[in-house]
Amino acid sequence: MTDAPNPLVGAAPFPAAARVELGKPQLRRNLRHATHTIRDKRLRVVSELDDWEDLRAAGSAIKAHVRQNLPELLVEFEAAATAAGATVHWARDAAEACRIVANLVIGAGATELVKVKSMATQEIGLNESLETVGVSAYETDLAELIVQLAGDTPSHILVPAIHYNRTEIRDIFRQHMPDAPDGLTDDPPVLAEAARTHLRRRFMTTKVAVSGANFAIASTGTLVVLESEGNGRMCLTLPETLISVVGVEKLLPDFTDLEVFMQLLPRSSTGERMNPYTSMWTGVTPGDGPQDVHVVLLDNGRSSVLADPIGRQALACIRCSACLNVCPVYERAGGHAYGSVYPGPIGAILSPQLTPGRNESLPFASTLCGACYDACPVRINIPEVLIHLRQTVRHRPAERVAFRILADLMAHPRRYRAALRAARAGAALHPRRHRVAFPVRRAPWPGSRWTAARDAPLPATETFADWWARERA
Ligand code: SF4
Repeated sequence: MTDAPNPLVGAAPFPAAARVELGKPQLRRNLRHATHTIRDKRLRVVSELDDWEDLRAAGSAIKAHVRQNLPELLVEFEAAATAAGATVHWARDAAEACRIVANLVIGAGATELVKVKSMATQEIGLNESLETVGVSAYETDLAELIVQLAGDTPSHILVPAIHYNRTEIRDIFRQHMPDAPDGLTDDPPVLAEAARTHLRRRFMTTKVAVSGANFAIASTGTLVVLESEGNGRMCLTLPETLISVVGVEKLLPDFTDLEVFMQLLPRSSTGERMNPYTSMWTGVTPGDGPQDVHVVLLDNGRSSVLADPIGRQALACIRCSACLNVCPVYERAGGHAYGSVYPGPIGAILSPQLTPGRNESLPFASTLCGACYDACPVRINIPEVLIHLRQTVRHRPAERVAFRILADLMAHPRRYRAALRAARAGAALHPRRHRVAFPVRRAPWPGSRWTAARDAPLPATETFADWWARERA
């Protein structure tokens, strides 16, 4: 079994990848339409609750408690799940998790499996890894199915096919779904029916299913999956063997903690008061559902994230994707630009921490406007983590020199004022100097490094210090 490429690490840094994505006008139209629709729905249902801020605070406090007591809670979960008939496995990294799943599937005599939508299995590159040992994994979530049929990668946590419109989806079905009906149209109910018929055959014949979990209850050993389509319920009940790959941060101490998260998650993710399907299972129930139940507890870098007092906030994420839908950078660049399984603001803080020394451009893929922090149901201070991670990045030599010069100027007021005077003298030569708001779009080197990706404002004709001296003298 060979290790698949790491899906947490993009091929190109964010600025280069974003430039490619920004050149796709249809993609940007699709993204704008989809993110604004979900964002408006979310705002409507959140405003119905007077205690929304209390719920956010409660969610944040429960997740902080989990971070502080993770080792004990994991052992408690293992004991409860084992007592209920499940087998618990521990995976240090992606390769170990993939090996465990592959051995279980092969041990069950299967060469194919059905999958519930799961970020953890994408994170470890499970499908690609299983392929190398002759096992085919079939996605059953509609959006994941579209992406898999297209040979593409997801671009959104919750709506992986957000970058396709319905006409493009019809074309993907026509080209890649062998049992797509003749005369398939792009009417959404017609597309959904085609997918339903296609998947139903798989559900009835496949003996192994793989899932993730939204939550894992330590005191009872229960796993919880929330979904909208019912495909997850089919995977979790029909096959004989069920394998769930669960990030260790998914734990909640008690069943009653779900009261908070069952209100936070559906409202923040799909903009619904409650999600259509919630499946919970605790080990094995004789004669009902899968009789061979496995849980793979996945670390894959989470322990080192936990060691960072600021960065560890990212482990509270419940993968609702609200931060993606409000992010101006995500809306324009799209998920593929991040080159990581986790895109958007959560990807910008989680992926670099899970892959130290890599994904270093992602913390810079933000305007620091703070919309993500306002939207996050568990109050992860994403801007704070972004700034923290920016400080840990190894700067290039030119940047190091620039920052050193800037620090020196700011430490010496006379030199700083002289530099400002020089900048103003340079700006006076600019042909449009009288238009105060006119930005410089192309500066000569080394300023060109800055204006290659963003505008630079012309220096003000009068500084605040000069104004102060003139007015208050
Ligand atoms: S960081 Fe917050 S808003 Fe973003 S996906 Fe995670 S829980 Fe949702």
